[in-house]
Amino acid sequence: MAKLTVRDLDVRGKRVFVRVDYNVPMEERDGKMVINDETRIKETLPTLKLLIEKGAKIILAAHLGRPKGKREASLSLRPVAFKLHELLGQPVEFADDAIGEHAEKVVASLKDGQVALLENVRYYNEEEANDPAFAEKLVKLADVYVNDAFGAAHRAHASTEGIARVITKRGGKAAAGLLMERELKFLGDELENPARPFVVILGGAKVSDKIKVIDRLLEKADTILIGGAMAYTFKLAHGVKTGKSLIEPDHKGTALAAEEKAKKLKVNFQLPTDTIIATPVDSGKLNKKGKPVYDLTNIRTVSGDIPDDAEGFSVGPETAANYAEIISSAKTILWNGPMGMFEDERFAAGTNAVAQAVVEATQKNGAKSIIGGGDSVKALNKIGLGNKVTFMSTGGGASLEFLEGAVLPGVAALSEK
Ligand code: ADP
Ligand code: MG
Repeated sequence: MAKLTVRDLDVRGKRVFVRVDYNVPMEERDGKMVINDETRIKETLPTLKLLIEKGAKIILAAHLGRPKGKREASLSLRPVAFKLHELLGQPVEFADDAIGEHAEKVVASLKDGQVALLENVRYYNEEEANDPAFAEKLVKLADVYVNDAFGAAHRAHASTEGIARVITKRGGKAAAGLLMERELKFLGDELENPARPFVVILGGAKVSDKIKVIDRLLEKADTILIGGAMAYTFKLAHGVKTGKSLIEPDHKGTALAAEEKAKKLKVNFQLPTDTIIATPVDSGKLNKKGKPVYDLTNIRTVSGDIPDDAEGFSVGPETAANYAEIISSAKTILWNGPMGMFEDERFAAGTNAVAQAVVEATQKNGAKSIIGGGDSVKALNKIGLGNKVTFMSTGGGASLEFLEGAVLPGVAALSEK
């Protein structure tokens, strides 16, 4: 069931409504909103350039933050229109409303190859409510729908799902953009029949966040390597002491069931053999949110129990070396979730070593390396390895749901080839 993509469309002279993910981090500087990271805007350029080349009239729609149905000036997409103009090298019209007369006027005035950006669709509550009448208004003048916002595809909102139905009911096409197409290829098709060995690296904070992914990937992977705080719940389930570490005692059963399933399916399921721990000491200070700040003292490595007054913050060097060794012979690698609290340099070594191993397997053995998860992507970018893997998902929550095997409403609504 392959989805139609923007490549398959004949759009010359047609008005194409493109949903993009322009939910970029912004900051106020001297009374003006400034974009801190333009990655998401850059990532839409291939789709936009293709549509421009094909002679489409392009209407862009996106959400920014959570304005909760109100016109919130700090969440206007106007700065994005300026940035897009700069990156695209051609003017971008801005309609300061997503629907209504003004938007229609801007859209109606577009010539072939021209681009307009609509104001934040979440200025209307109808967007998140997936209101059919609102969807009709959004695409009043459009002929074709393209969804390039994989990061928003797990939500059935008017601009991500409702519109696709409106357009197809009218006999128009709803297609995936190039970024969406790549996400579906790497997080979907490539993992269906992966080249083996297929090594899955799972970390991050919570077992409960990742259990569905573990469960599904147990059926496909040859090896699963567990790291991050998630490992402590597995340890706890085996009667190992975890001190003050982040654990989920209610999920001990979940953890044991996953290991049981691994045994049955003959998946090599590995837990860390050593842990970097520290003793938190109340500094007497409060953070911005009024919570006590702890100094992390006496940082050391243990291989068994974590003392009562200590907390685990990363896999240790032995685990990192073992995981790196396993990764070095992989042909397909999926990584979701860092191996420790990598945001703090003192606990980043394990995550960095695994990142290095993934990059080496990619470059030396031609392994396909696929990175899903917002923080995992951050961890790779932080050490400049982001462009040295096969694919980094832009999806965050959407990639996690997709990896769980969920049908994303924004994807389901697209036309078949
Ligand atoms: P992703 O976004 O890649 O899916 P998660 O959101 O599941 O990853 O987890 C990332 C977070 O988990 C990071 O902020 C990291 O600091 C935290 N984390 C990982 N290991 C530990 C640990 N041992 N103790 C506390 N936090 C941890
Ligand atoms: Mg995260």
